[in-house]
Amino acid sequence: MSDYEIPPPEPKEIDEKLSMELQILASNAVLKGHPSGDEKCDNCLYYLDPTQEISYCWHQKLRILVGGEWWCQWWEEIPEE
Ligand code: SF4
Repeated sequence: MSDYEIPPPEPKEIDEKLSMELQILASNAVLKGHPSGDEKCDNCLYYLDPTQEISYCWHQKLRILVGGEWWCQWWEEIPEE
């Protein structure tokens, strides 16, 4: 029997890098984890699939997964057809 213990998981360098990049991106977008009044990702033009609680935001400055209840300064009304 070995005394070797598996070390607890730790964030790697790539995680620190991605975390920093995403924080800058979120900060530029003024991205919040809650709605702003009636405005939220769920009813924004850029939210790809409003039937999902989490979906892809296709705004060119974001292109990340966001939550339906989130909001950012680039919120845009869905035009009526
Ligand atoms: S542009 Fe902003 S408000 Fe619209 S889906 Fe993307 S993150 Fe949400």
